[in-house]
Amino acid sequence: MMRLPLFEFRAPRSIAEAVRILDGEGPQAMPLAGGTDLLPNMKRRQQVPKTLMSLNRISELHGTELNDSSSRLGACVTLSEIAADSRFCNGMTALAQAASFVATPQIRNMATLGGNLCLDTRCNYYNQNYEWRKSIGFCLKKDGDTCWVAPGSSKCMAVSSTDTAPALMALGARVRLISRLGEREVPLAELYQNDGIHYIRRQPNELLTEVLLNPLPGWKSAYWKLRRRGSFDFPVLSVAAAARLSANNMVEESRIVVGSVACLPLVAAEASKFLVGRPLNQDSIAAAAMLAARIAKPLDNTDFDMTWRKRVTAEFVTYALRELRGDDMRGERLLLTRHSSGF
Ligand SMILES: Cc1cc2nc3c(=O)[nH]c(=O)nc-3n(C[C@H](O)[C@H](O)[C@H](O)COP(=O)(O)OP(=O)(O)OC[C@H]3O[C@@H](n4cnc5c(N)ncnc54)[C@H](O)[C@@H]3O)c2cc1C
Ligand code: SF4
Repeated sequence: MMRLPLFEFRAPRSIAEAVRILDGEGPQAMPLAGGTDLLPNMKRRQQVPKTLMSLNRISELHGTELNDSSSRLGACVTLSEIAADSRFCNGMTALAQAASFVATPQIRNMATLGGNLCLDTRCNYYNQNYEWRKSIGFCLKKDGDTCWVAPGSSKCMAVSSTDTAPALMALGARVRLISRLGEREVPLAELYQNDGIHYIRRQPNELLTEVLLNPLPGWKSAYWKLRRRGSFDFPVLSVAAAARLSANNMVEESRIVVGSVACLPLVAAEASKFLVGRPLNQDSIAAAAMLAARIAKPLDNTDFDMTWRKRVTAEFVTYALRELRGDDMRGERLLLTRHSSGF
């Protein structure tokens, strides 16, 4: 049985108290939300905080407000709550889909939006127990000095594996970060950076308190995910697409984001720009899919063959864009759920 290392436990009741604790304890303290990622990581000694600070009792982090002028989702809203909330439809469908595709129902009941956005990056050489990692001399990301994926590299290339970040980036979301020194609002797309170790620009003394969304009238969005087991696994390729469509289905604005093929979710800017002013027809979808797929650079450190993951990226972008224009995609969805492992 893998046991948790010893740690101190704090359970503040307000954001103000929480950021005082983070400030006082320094980087040795980590926020604990649902614990569905952090606690297994602690058992494997990938993350060993001296202090765990539970966010569970902070009521300010739990609410969701959706209205015509703006929307906010508290960091501790659970993924089950998002997946089951019928208000996340039309413009925000991608978010509900992404939340509903994370892990299993039991995990989604505990897992929070904030935890999903701050999720640690993943790699086949890192997501192993302590003894396994020790047997290869560990790796750059934790306790070692070699990257086993690219031994000549001084940079870790562990993969961003969050489902909701690509979806929220396609929706143009921002996040609020609060520390004892003040607060800042950051476009979600700017929260991440291309480094498997320092993948997030959140400072250790900052708490992610909420996700903010502008109103999305006329927008449609969709999220597609590749994983081995259709009802369980982390994504190894994902595509979120959102577009504002005119009455005659012309694209007025669009955002395509490709996830789980790099240390951060990648904005497919060229493909998004290409679609503007065009109808979503077979030709424009095929061209945008090719452009978006170009940016995907999967490595050999997650599930499935990396060249195959690269190759099917265009197909996943096609699925997402076809869903936006209103095609009935239930057959393709079902096929993916049932036969992911057969691809
Ligand atoms: C079997 C299994 C399958 C999984 N499958 C998926 C999957 O398919 N897709 C996926 O995206 N994830 C998956 N996960 C990972 C995890 O369950 C989810 O990402 C979940 O949303 C994490 O949220 P949490 O609240 O449990 O985070 P925690 O585990 O509590 O925290 C995760 C990280 O975020 C930090 N953190 C949490 N909240 C905040 C905050 N408000 N401010 C600052 N930092 C914060 C923590 O310090 C920690 O570093 C899986 C996990 C398991 C065990
Ligand atoms: S990419 Fe390299 S350094 Fe990063 S977790 Fe994998 S093996 Fe370790």
